[in-house]
Amino acid sequence: MSYAFSPVEQASVAIEGSEERFPVRRIYCVGRNYRAHAIEMGSDPDREPPFFFMKPADAVVENGATIPYPPQTSNLHHEIELVVAIGTGGKDISVDDALDHVWGYGVGIDLTRRDIQNKAKETGRPWDMGKGFDNSAPCTALRPVSDVGHPDTGNGAIWIKVNGETKQESTLDLHIWNTAETINYLSGLCELQPGDLVYMGTPDGVAAVVSGDTMEGHIEGVGDLTINIA
Ligand code: MN
Repeated sequence: MSYAFSPVEQASVAIEGSEERFPVRRIYCVGRNYRAHAIEMGSDPDREPPFFFMKPADAVVENGATIPYPPQTSNLHHEIELVVAIGTGGKDISVDDALDHVWGYGVGIDLTRRDIQNKAKETGRPWDMGKGFDNSAPCTALRPVSDVGHPDTGNGAIWIKVNGETKQESTLDLHIWNTAETINYLSGLCELQPGDLVYMGTPDGVAAVVSGDTMEGHIEGVGDLTINIA
């Protein structure tokens, strides 16, 4: 078997302290997984099971990168999120078994063209172009479970600053659906595979960034992420 042309490079994320890289298969994202953020987006967090959307694997961006301000938006929002890296695939994974499928964790930003997403919500159209655009998934080097444990079984801090000013600040225990429950739900919808990433949803305080801004994200015990907008 041969390809008609060379495939583009496999998308991947760095691994902390290693020359090896984590090959990314799919990027799943949990919608509205913090009460206060669900409320700021105008929905009722108590009446909804978790829901998911996706970004393309090659939307990942390396820690420290400067990314261009994306096209067709004037309302680019940061969403600081815990990133779960799947190491062992499976479908219909039970809550009790779920954490055994996790390879490690990182700190990510679910960059969002909020104006396009809002228009999609109003018109009942897909979110893809609001969420899954080029460079929309910055992520730190991943750290294995043997190093970080399972961060959202604790109440570690999660925050993001823009140009030094704190914009979002919360704790990981406030996820409505924790990592194990999220893997349970998601694996009932799609068979998970090694290399899948799950962006776990963002706290309240999402806001716009503009050209020249620097975003600094932090998750206690997981890492620090810096992304500049050109
Ligand atoms: Mn998000």
